[in-house]
Amino acid sequence: MLNRSMHVAAGLALLLAVACRGGGDGSGGDGGSGGSGGSGQGGLSNATELQCPYPGQLPFELESTGFQKADNKTLADNNPRSKDETADTLGLPGGVIANTFIDVAGSPAAGDINYRGRKARTGNGSGLLGFPLPEENVSLWYYDPSAKAWQTLGRTTTDTNGYYDVTPSPALETALGQPVYAVLEGDGSCAEHYDYLLPSGTKVVLTDIDGTMTLSDEELFKQIDDGNYDPLENTSSSVMMNKWSDKGYEVVYLTARPHNFRAETRAWLQEHDFPVGPVISANELVFDESARDYKSAWVERLTGDFGWDIIAAYGNAESDVQAYEDAGIPKDITFIIGPFAGSSGTQAIENNDYTAHISDFVDPYPAN
Ligand SMILES: [Mg+2]
Repeated sequence: MLNRSMHVAAGLALLLAVACRGGGDGSGGDGGSGGSGGSGQGGLSNATELQCPYPGQLPFELESTGFQKADNKTLADNNPRSKDETADTLGLPGGVIANTFIDVAGSPAAGDINYRGRKARTGNGSGLLGFPLPEENVSLWYYDPSAKAWQTLGRTTTDTNGYYDVTPSPALETALGQPVYAVLEGDGSCAEHYDYLLPSGTKVVLTDIDGTMTLSDEELFKQIDDGNYDPLENTSSSVMMNKWSDKGYEVVYLTARPHNFRAETRAWLQEHDFPVGPVISANELVFDESARDYKSAWVERLTGDFGWDIIAAYGNAESDVQAYEDAGIPKDITFIIGPFAGSSGTQAIENNDYTAHISDFVDPYPAN
């Protein structure tokens, strides 16, 4: 089991290394099926949220429609799997914040939220490579519940690598706490930015995704090969996370997947009814030691810089065990599933099944 798991990790590393060297961005499979075609029969004028990546008819009017570049239209038409990247912002209200796209080793950023993202699509059917959509119009939208209206945060054009940055100034307040949809005006598709500005002392549940929420790392490979493949969950993964969320705890997803897997990660979480939460992804390919360093640095940011209180941490890899230990998460709330279950003094989740853990630990846990 261990050898197989390690081979899988090494295989992913190799595939991603090839993808990154290829000049585009690595990518995974998104079941483009998930959001396509709109959400309902013509009632979207009243919609207060969108189903990304493909919202169908939008409940607001864009300044432009259609692609600016014919090559981009061809790429998007031929390769509809979204490789969009959208940064989330985490931190303290009015205090230290961090953007998932910044280097975790750098100083925590403070000040305005910067919505940084990228518009890209797969190429030639590959689930790994993401090819940019340069020089296309992107506008950012959110639903303002107090005004009961859609508002825009700004509009820009992607650069030669498909990236955009929007830093709205005064209009930001009403957007806080709402999903912000980065809409590619070329085809009306979207990807969500989220912000989580939560006070010190906020109680959070931290979890890895591959092999922890999904059945194994191999599920990701299957999705990379086939964008319509729907990765299997470990038994009761989403049930457990919804129980945590219903009890009033924030769920934070900390994955070694690189940013170019964010679109399919968000889509999978939504399609499997996981609670919404920040998705922290890696700036670059990380595995083994680099995954350990990346994850421990982020945990230290959450607990040290933000003062958030982790009440349970879930993982499957040896690097999870090590990173959580490095960051000072106690062993009695470190829950490991898969081949490393129970290693190094962690709590074992047996048989790829959270059912017993839910009844033993989650259900009796007091609500927040
Ligand atoms: Mg994992």
